[in-house]
Amino acid sequence: MNQYAAVQDAPAAPILCDLRSDTVTRPDAGMMAAMAAAEVGDDVYGEDATVNRLEATLAERLGKEAGLFLSSGTQSNLVGMLAHCARGEEVLVGRGYHIYTYEAAGASVLGGIALDPLEVAADGGLEPAAITSAIKDDDSHHAMTRLLALENTHNGQPVPLARCKAAADAARAAGLSVHLDGARFFNAVEALGCAETELADLFDTLSICMSKGLGAPVGSVLVGPRDLIQWARRWRKMLGGGMRQSGLLAAAGLYALDTNVARLAEDRMRAERLGQALSQYGTVTQGTNMVFFTPEGGVTPALQHHMAARGVMLSGAEGTTRLVLHKDVTDAGLRTAMDGFASAFGQA
Ligand SMILES: *Cc1c(COP(=O)(O)O)cnc(C)c1O
Repeated sequence: MNQYAAVQDAPAAPILCDLRSDTVTRPDAGMMAAMAAAEVGDDVYGEDATVNRLEATLAERLGKEAGLFLSSGTQSNLVGMLAHCARGEEVLVGRGYHIYTYEAAGASVLGGIALDPLEVAADGGLEPAAITSAIKDDDSHHAMTRLLALENTHNGQPVPLARCKAAADAARAAGLSVHLDGARFFNAVEALGCAETELADLFDTLSICMSKGLGAPVGSVLVGPRDLIQWARRWRKMLGGGMRQSGLLAAAGLYALDTNVARLAEDRMRAERLGQALSQYGTVTQGTNMVFFTPEGGVTPALQHHMAARGVMLSGAEGTTRLVLHKDVTDAGLRTAMDGFASAFGQA
């Protein structure tokens, strides 16, 4: 399923509850104030104090040597892979993971890096045995397997620590490095109930989005070993991603780390409430801040229009809608959405 397909038409009513993605959040007053007050400089000269602080803060918080602020999660994963791998080398990745499915094969196009997709298990992880058997022998016929890329959360599923560790161990046993696409790293940590470093320690590098559930307008941070982040910085420059007074954006990221990590449990609890309510109308799969809902007969344009008329925005592809909770969905907004579904399914 392509979660980006079939985004509905312009809404018929003011948007009261936008469930399409956690990327739709807008900076609130506190975040805007932090941005307005940011101390900035030219970051390509290394002189933006706020960017430097965001990079150092997140690296230190996750027990890594260095960080790099990037324009997006896609760019962060890309420079991560480019820093880990040379041309002719290979990344093992889950078939449905964002890196494989939604990043336009950038690592292959721009870096000559092969991607070998492995089946994703029901819990969102990769099987250690599948990793081991996908690692190529040192033979001139094969790509050189260099990196394992995991994803957590995957489709909102928090992949258990032990599963991530088993996969990472299988990779390391063959000398691979391990990267985490942790676009929603903090949602995973919240749901797993572990320390941030317990999850981060399993990986050499992690990419973390500020612009998903954390509510910043733009940006991701890649953290890892200092020499590798130095390479990533060079790649970011080559990709046109050297930014100047980007402290304005980094300030939003710092504010999000301080303020919005602690509220992610709210999104998970609202997702549970929504999932429970919807289970009477169809099939529900629950994630941290996501609910995948397949009503009897599938999601139709008629359902999307019914909801849009009530100010509720839904995505929908191949019969299933991915409903995403985030900080701009209030209890009142959620009630509007639940009432809308109830009336759509003839319950009100
Ligand atoms: C959104 C997302 C990304 C990419 O982030 P962008 O900022 O949209 O480029 C990467 N991985 C996962 C799992 C994501 O959900």
